[in-house]
Amino acid sequence: MNSVFTIPASAMAPIAGSNDLFPIRRIFCVGRNYAEHAREMGKDPDRDPPFFFTKWAETYVPTNGTVPYPQSTSNFHFEAELVVAIGGTGRNVDEEAAKDLIFGYATGLDMTRRDLQLEARSSGRPWDTGKNVEASSPLGPIHKCSETGHRERGRIALSVNGVVRQEADLADLIWSVPELVSYLSGLYRLQPGDLIYTGTPAGVGAVVSGDLVVVEIDGLSTLQVEIGDLAP
Ligand code: MN
Repeated sequence: MNSVFTIPASAMAPIAGSNDLFPIRRIFCVGRNYAEHAREMGKDPDRDPPFFFTKWAETYVPTNGTVPYPQSTSNFHFEAELVVAIGGTGRNVDEEAAKDLIFGYATGLDMTRRDLQLEARSSGRPWDTGKNVEASSPLGPIHKCSETGHRERGRIALSVNGVVRQEADLADLIWSVPELVSYLSGLYRLQPGDLIYTGTPAGVGAVVSGDLVVVEIDGLSTLQVEIGDLAP
């Protein structure tokens, strides 16, 4: 039997300090995981269980890449995020075992059609068209935690054209990384290649074509992307 057409292989992210690549399997994202961002989105921060949404692996964009401005939005937002790269298999793991599933960390961007997300939110519909957008998941090189340790605190910041727009500390995450990984493993069997975008701090805002977006997290490689022309 022959396949009637071919589709691209998995997206692969570079691993810092090596020639190896990390194949991306699934992308999970956490909503409202910094109190100030929850407030700016009109919600009260609390310790309700974390909630998740997903994106296709093919929405990955490497650092120094271009994010074409997507169709059907006039409010395309940046969200700087710490990203956890999963390297093991696990279901229903506790927080200690969760750490053992982590391969490494990277800087990421959860680009969002905010107008479509808010429309969906207010009508109680799924967020997919606001969040799972082509080229909406830029990711910097992945740093192995065997070399750099776990990321529990440190500055996370985003600038647009050199102007700082988001700045916070990873210690401000409402749900810590081990808590997120443990909780998510109660919903899905986590698998090598899975990514978890851990949520964004306050200060989200819109970009336009030609903007340069830079995300920095202490101890990790910088991620930068340019916003391109309207997607062809
Ligand atoms: Mn996000």
